[in-house]
Amino acid sequence: MNGIIPVSEPLFGKEEEENVIDCIRTGWISSEGRYVEEFERLCAQSCSMKHGIAVSGGTSALQVAVQCLPFQRGDEIILPSFTIISCATAIVEAGAVPVLVDCDSDTWTMDVAAIESKITSKTRAIMAVHIYGHPVDMDAVLSLADKYGLFVIEDAAEAHGAEYKGRKCGGMSDISILSFYANKLITTGEGGMVLTNNDDFAERARSLRNLCFRPEKRFYHTEIGHNYRLTNVQAAIGVAQLHKLDNFIVRKREMAKLYNQELTGLPLQFPIEKEWAKNIYWMYGIVLNDSVEEDPVQVMSLLKKEGIQSRPFFWPLHEQPVFNKMGLFNSESYPVSEKIARRGFYLPSGQAITDEQIQKVACELKKILN
Ligand SMILES: *Cc1c(COP(=O)(O)O)cnc(C)c1O
Repeated sequence: MNGIIPVSEPLFGKEEEENVIDCIRTGWISSEGRYVEEFERLCAQSCSMKHGIAVSGGTSALQVAVQCLPFQRGDEIILPSFTIISCATAIVEAGAVPVLVDCDSDTWTMDVAAIESKITSKTRAIMAVHIYGHPVDMDAVLSLADKYGLFVIEDAAEAHGAEYKGRKCGGMSDISILSFYANKLITTGEGGMVLTNNDDFAERARSLRNLCFRPEKRFYHTEIGHNYRLTNVQAAIGVAQLHKLDNFIVRKREMAKLYNQELTGLPLQFPIEKEWAKNIYWMYGIVLNDSVEEDPVQVMSLLKKEGIQSRPFFWPLHEQPVFNKMGLFNSESYPVSEKIARRGFYLPSGQAITDEQIQKVACELKKILN
């Protein structure tokens, strides 16, 4: 992409190429094949979980994860308002009710102090979403889950390799998910993973992913499933990508450090790293201080004129017309989510970006904000 600095560009090498060619030469291009199994094993290992179940995307992984949990129609799952819509749609589609909390103003992950007051007799689970590479304060979530007998689902789509007190994101809960969309830490183009230590959940996830075929009697179904299978070709790319995860994380952290240095002094809130966290800075997100006259839409369009792509933050779930029309979240307010959604955006931070490009982005942003 000549002259343009994309918001995110993946980085592939020889191994990805060779693996894909191997699939084509051997004819193993569907969801059967050795790369799928290897990818599942390596992914589970990377998050210290026992089972990995590869699926077609992070959104489908969330659907499968929620459907693995035993709950009844109308049961409630608590999640942050500041996240991607997939988290809430997975809950709604499974017949459960999403219940929101605000996010923390420093880390932008769920405000764990707000969870307990949302727990009712119908609450079954807490969905913790690690945001932009920074982990949720999991001890608080896990102790509430323990106290009230709740399941914990972790969405680690943006935090593959991030750590909480030395524990891996995606490895601290009953069931967790990863995404391998093109802008995620490692990518298979589209793809996702369900992770769990629970043998029953793993078996159920495998079944849900594959139309709920029954091993003992094929084409005979007792439940509704999905075709959420990942192909061997995608997994072949994933295996190669996963070999680079540690290096990718080192680079992401370097990139964040460089942005931090270059942008010092600007009227912005920067991404942080709590003393208990290892942030992998999936995307380098910033929030404009109130003193800045422009809003992100204006800043992003000025950056675009210079060939620099950027993206706004998530729009909060409680302000999504699709849910409001369903009667959800109508009079609710989550001020931190509302504020950062209106003032936040993220800068180019894909794996392929160079230091020179980061410097150019910082330089243009300085011109705009000064
Ligand atoms: C990207 C993402 C997803 C969805 O993943 P897809 O593979 O795009 O379906 C889910 N949760 C979070 C937090 C994400 O960032």
